[in-house]
Amino acid sequence: MSTVPTIALNNGVSIPQLGFGVYQVPPEDTKGATLTALEVGYRHIDTAEMYGNERGVGEALRESGLERSEVFVTSKLNNGFHAHDDAIAAFDESLEVLGFDHLDLFLIHWPLPGIDVDFVETWQALEEIYRSGRAKSIGVSNFQANHLRRLVQETEIVPAVNQIEVHPYLTNDDVRAVNTELGIATEAWSPIAQGLVLDDPVVTGIAKDHDRTPAQVVLRWHIQRGDIVFPKSVTRSRVEENFELFDFELSTADMGLITALNKDERTGPNPDEFNWIP
Ligand code: NAD
Repeated sequence: MSTVPTIALNNGVSIPQLGFGVYQVPPEDTKGATLTALEVGYRHIDTAEMYGNERGVGEALRESGLERSEVFVTSKLNNGFHAHDDAIAAFDESLEVLGFDHLDLFLIHWPLPGIDVDFVETWQALEEIYRSGRAKSIGVSNFQANHLRRLVQETEIVPAVNQIEVHPYLTNDDVRAVNTELGIATEAWSPIAQGLVLDDPVVTGIAKDHDRTPAQVVLRWHIQRGDIVFPKSVTRSRVEENFELFDFELSTADMGLITALNKDERTGPNPDEFNWIP
């Protein structure tokens, strides 16, 4: 079984660089999919209140026989709960549904810059949660450079991570550079662009050279860039395939060819314009 490297967050907490994402896994399938991932060796699960499947993640962890401390679990504050008291209550609800007494990482899912609650207020609620010890780290998701700079200027705790869309068609290097400058780890969501990049001839060519699959090559590219990834699949063979990333290496030339595929193409919403509340 592969050994997954860890990354030290800015508060000293370690996070496995490779995890398992459960976005779009139906609630009734989540326990089974998460159990499969834990059996394969994943020790980091990325869920969210918005995904409606936190319960299955908690159940899988309890059924797996692993200790709670052996698995790093992230969840996220849903849109619509940005006001201070709503954020605290939503965090309590996530813990309750998961059946946990703490989360390893809790994120503001989207900045929602156009709504009438300022995300600085939301972050102050997360700071309180962090100080209570019930979230071992706190961070943000889909924050742009200007959002990050405001948080750092106006609040006390620097986010541990910023989870943003990153893949070969959206390298997002400007936001990644600001994350690095501020000491924030980058988590790359939709790391294989939901499959969109897997037929790219540059990717398939490099995969052939290494006798690897296109998904492994793209995930390895993220790992070598230093980002944290958690690909999603409910197919056991793919869950296994996506875990086998640590016994080969891409050359500098391979890395450059993949990075050059960037066309600033998003698969998800633009965080500057997204203000959707369910
Ligand atoms: P992904 O890039 O991980 O792609 C997932 C899809 O690719 C799967 O549905 C599957 O069809 C396919 N796939 C997976 N492994 C494959 C393989 N080896 N070969 C061929 N096809 C394969 O996309 P994602 O699920 O959107 O993103 C991963 C995780 O990132 C999510 O599960 C979630 O945890 C997180 N995420 C966060 C946000 C956010 O706003 N913070 C948004 C989207 C996703």
